[in-house]
Amino acid sequence: MSKKMVFSFKEGDGKNKHLLGGKGANLCEMTQIGLNVPPGFVISTEACLAYLDSDTDELPEGVMDEVHEQMKQVEQATGKGFGDAENPLLVSVRSGSAMSMPGMMDTILNLGLNARTLKGEIKQTGDERFGYDSYRRFIQLFGKVALGIADELFDEEFNKVKESAHVTEDVGLSADNLRDISERFLAVVEKATGRPFPEDPYEQLEIAVKAVFRSWMGKRAVDYRREFNITPDMANGTAVNVCTMVFGNRGDDSATGVAFTRNPATGENKLYGEYLVNAQGEDVVAGIRTPKPIDRLADEMPQMAKEIEELRQKLEAHYHEVQDFEFTIERGVLYCLQTRNGKMNAAAMVRTSVEMEKEGLISRDQALLRIAPDDLEQMLYPRIDPNVRVTPLAQGLPASPGAASGHVVFDADRAEAEAKKGRTVILMREETKPEDIHGFFASKGILTSRGGKTSHAAVVARGMGKPCVAGAEGISVDVQLREAFVGDTVIREGDLVTIDGTSGKVYLGAVPTVEADFSAELNILLGWADEVARLSVMANADTALDADRALKYGAKGIGLCRTERMFNTTDRLPVVIEMIMAETTEHRKHSLNKLLPMQRQDFQELFETMAPYPVTIRLLDPPIHEFLPSEQQLKDDLAYLQQLRDSVRGLEVLSGTMSLLQTENEEFFMPQMVESRQVEEAIIKKETMLKKVKALYETNPMLGHRGVRLGITFPEIYEMQIRAILEAAVECDKKGLEIHPKIKVPQVCTAQELLYVKEIVDRVSAELEEGLGHKLEFQFGTMIEVVRACMRADSLAKQANFFSFGTNDLTQATFSFSREDAENKFLPLYNERGILQNNPFDVLDEKGVGKLMELAVKWGRERRPDLLVGICGEHGGHPRSIHFCHRIGLDYVSCSAPRIPVARLAAAHAALME
Ligand code: PEP
Ligand code: MG
Repeated sequence: MSKKMVFSFKEGDGKNKHLLGGKGANLCEMTQIGLNVPPGFVISTEACLAYLDSDTDELPEGVMDEVHEQMKQVEQATGKGFGDAENPLLVSVRSGSAMSMPGMMDTILNLGLNARTLKGEIKQTGDERFGYDSYRRFIQLFGKVALGIADELFDEEFNKVKESAHVTEDVGLSADNLRDISERFLAVVEKATGRPFPEDPYEQLEIAVKAVFRSWMGKRAVDYRREFNITPDMANGTAVNVCTMVFGNRGDDSATGVAFTRNPATGENKLYGEYLVNAQGEDVVAGIRTPKPIDRLADEMPQMAKEIEELRQKLEAHYHEVQDFEFTIERGVLYCLQTRNGKMNAAAMVRTSVEMEKEGLISRDQALLRIAPDDLEQMLYPRIDPNVRVTPLAQGLPASPGAASGHVVFDADRAEAEAKKGRTVILMREETKPEDIHGFFASKGILTSRGGKTSHAAVVARGMGKPCVAGAEGISVDVQLREAFVGDTVIREGDLVTIDGTSGKVYLGAVPTVEADFSAELNILLGWADEVARLSVMANADTALDADRALKYGAKGIGLCRTERMFNTTDRLPVVIEMIMAETTEHRKHSLNKLLPMQRQDFQELFETMAPYPVTIRLLDPPIHEFLPSEQQLKDDLAYLQQLRDSVRGLEVLSGTMSLLQTENEEFFMPQMVESRQVEEAIIKKETMLKKVKALYETNPMLGHRGVRLGITFPEIYEMQIRAILEAAVECDKKGLEIHPKIKVPQVCTAQELLYVKEIVDRVSAELEEGLGHKLEFQFGTMIEVVRACMRADSLAKQANFFSFGTNDLTQATFSFSREDAENKFLPLYNERGILQNNPFDVLDEKGVGKLMELAVKWGRERRPDLLVGICGEHGGHPRSIHFCHRIGLDYVSCSAPRIPVARLAAAHAALME
């Protein structure tokens, strides 16, 4: 006997989403827990895969026989007949895979209608208008989805009838109008396909099932899976759900709607949704009519409002998760047509996690695990600066929070093209459709003039965490003209606008934004995360300001302070350049003495901000030529100055050339007055600098004179930094502050290098301790970012209290891929061709780089069991890499401030999933 491929809602396994798809499994589960689901059955994903695999256009053997069997049961349950001329059974045919892919695949409604059954349907309902309305909807949807006929062909006919009937809204069309439309639609199909519309309901069903199966491989669905990394082991093929139609468009005691058991934008524990009276589901989702907020149902249909509230409670009690459900009320009877876990933005996920844990609906571990760490970054997104006074141009619905500015584009293709050019864009449409998905990916935010908070635009934007304002009805969009109008104001394609998805407001121009607040719920949740995590999370921070932010986000210290960033400020750079230009050690020390108090101040501020947490300071790393102008820049300056010299005679007024002449010597400045002597001096300076730049030139600077190699050739530089760190520590010590300074050395490949620097550290600290009268508390360690350092981990551990993996450089070194160039040159192609699965600068390469790390940890700890080990490369903020760091036993990860909440949650996940 061949394998069973069709399952009734009463028998299907509600947990088997792989086989039945998410929607199908849920329909089975809902049926089995006693919710009022219209009878139906699911055709499995296995049938889909077999169909797609086959060389013929036939459904797998036996499937249609099973369908006939199941249909008999549905007929029995409903008392209707499929194809029956008296009391016809109509069904919906819907897609549904194991992973929710809203709107990405196809659906057909009212299937089973034909000239004969239509009469029966009209007789049964006594409503001719309703009959023809269902019929024309069916023909169009079937024509589009199953027969591949362009929507526009139907829309054209529809609009013709609307025009001649002088109606603007669909509800204004009479039964006669709708009959006329149905007939025109039948003609459209016949013309497009060369054969009449299929009349036999089973033939209709078979064609529809195949079409839904094929939509699994449609462009939209494939794009969506690629973007969200949905692999075959997560979802393979779509199931087809065949479900008895119930009608929300059977008069004023009928309605249809979509709702969330909690507010998906804020997480508030209150039913949230929209409905339309006398309408079918598509009208709500497509945003054709703007629906009413669900609160209003209590006035319009109090009994139904009560039943929906009960449904909400039942769903959450059963699923232990916020549900996004569809309902239909047919003549005062409530049906639940679909439920799935609600897609919410991060703020709502966090709030619902904390509240559901408090309500006893989920455990603390579940509260942590239901949130994807990466999503938390959304919560740090900017909002409109409350201190800025701006008048909004239009008001829409707050559909997905966050603020974004960008250049307006009117279609998804243009959005994609502009984004590729590096422009930030806001996609503005009347309403969006599933085929606009690539435009969503490319845009900073979405703005629509029609549709509700559960319209396609709103749902998709929320899922992506992008700001969205929906249904801004004051805006009229003219895609043809590529303009939008708000009263007298015209918005042209390319104009800047700002949208605020939290308030629903739309502004002209780029309105300033401020960072988001850390919500109380996020603090609670991350507190739970810290309790279960084994890894601690530190920050990569270079200034007290960065440190402050990192602290606010919950960093437990600074894992990397790149001191070179402190050299780049306008007040220091001239001194740094002077230091580099110095010809003798004495001269260099002179400049370093000027830098010392500045650095001491920097470090003291960091220590004070972070106390009592550790602060890890890395000694100077980049090649020093990076602080000088480029060779080309100097040549251009010189050419200019030489030209100037020829034209300057005696004292002249030369405004505009002052900046060039000032160079790094402040005393040189003589407002507006320049002598040829001064030009001469400037030329000499530039020539000297050019000589220096040439002397410092390296073919491979990233593999060149940098890191500890600098510290060994110019020990006075490292000595100044070490002194600044330890003197800052002494100052804090005197203030009675508990601080934990750590000094680390970059680019180390041999223990001798480390020893060399350690001797300086020991000498300076001994000197300071003598004055202080007691020992200074600090640690000395090394970056591990060179392959040889991994191989020599045991001997390095002898000199170092701690290791800090610099996986940016270590990845570069392991692959021999330049971290500066690879991502723009060949890496995208490598990913596209599947030669590498990921960008190793993004996702830690566990098999190569990770292997080296594992060895280094093992050998390092063998030598020094209490060796502290962490990571401070970019990977330290990426959840997958964090799991790996957890597995190989690191003590901490260090990442940039906005990644800290992500890292804290990822560290908890790693511990919970162990
Ligand atoms: C690293 O190489 O991973 C690192 C943290 O150092 P940088 O990025 O500053 O070279
Ligand atoms: Mg590095």
